[in-house]
Amino acid sequence: MSAIETLDLDFRYGKSFAIRALRMRVEEGDIYGFLGPNGAGKTTTMRLLLGLVAPLRGTIRFFGEDLHRSRLAVLARVGTHLEGHAFYPYLSGRDNLILFARYHGAPERARIDELLETVGLARAARARVRTYSLGMKQRLGLAQALLHRPRLLVLDEPLNGLDPPGVIEVRELLVRLNREEGITVLLSSHRLDEAERICNRIGLIRDGALVREGRLDALLAPPDRQRYRIRTRDDARAQQRLAEAAFVAGVAATDGALAVEVAAEEAHRLARWLVEADLDVLELVPWRPRLEDLFRDGFAARGAGEGG
Ligand code: ATP
Repeated sequence: MSAIETLDLDFRYGKSFAIRALRMRVEEGDIYGFLGPNGAGKTTTMRLLLGLVAPLRGTIRFFGEDLHRSRLAVLARVGTHLEGHAFYPYLSGRDNLILFARYHGAPERARIDELLETVGLARAARARVRTYSLGMKQRLGLAQALLHRPRLLVLDEPLNGLDPPGVIEVRELLVRLNREEGITVLLSSHRLDEAERICNRIGLIRDGALVREGRLDALLAPPDRQRYRIRTRDDARAQQRLAEAAFVAGVAATDGALAVEVAAEEAHRLARWLVEADLDVLELVPWRPRLEDLFRDGFAARGAGEGG
């Protein structure tokens, strides 16, 4: 089942469209990375999903239910921690959670202690929040998001601003929640390296539209294609010749080498072809691109990987 599905969402600030015909699908069990450059529309989409602003047009469904038809029931299954949500600095982490839980019903102390344990704050639970690192505050935010036992977490830039240990702490926590508790996670990020580490599916947004969505492994290593890194004694000539070869799907110069893509069933031809083309080969290795390489190559336009 889809945890989140949007159909043809439009939204605009004043006259300018921030979101256009946005279709995205987060499957149950995903850690879905919603990626895109600054100003692409990530935060606006998050706000639409959380019902903080209403779309001009389009549908949002969580676990098959329409957000705008049954808002309270739907949002009860969603946990979020909004950026800028402030904790009381002079209260402890635990007291902040108790206070928050009180606003939303009766605080269950046992649940709060269990969550503090889950997010690795049991030992710091009684220390004032003002003494917490940003990573600890972010984890306290996740504990708060988890209080009502949501099936899905919707997080806007959860790794933003964290130092490397903080990034690791939050990343590991999200993976654990996903694997051990079956919680689906939608997170936005402009950090491609981090997204690559934790997400199983990604959606790429540009100028308010989703231009690519799919499984990360299929995008990085499509089963029907093989990618190689090649160095020769004359890469400029090699690039030109490869670009003319009918069996080569793509060739691009990357840091001091050529990235070449061929259909998997043609892969065996490459080495022989290079030799026959009288190109002196210095290096020929299978190459698995990073997410960043695909972005740079404009893969969104070419459409590698699976569709949905
Ligand atoms: P960032 O990574 O910089 O936060 P983003 O992908 O989250 O970017 P949004 O903040 O959703 O992008 O912005 C999408 C577009 O809408 C941008 O062009 C932005 O300038 C515009 N925008 C965002 N908020 C407002 C607002 N309150 N009023 C008018 N325009 C806005």
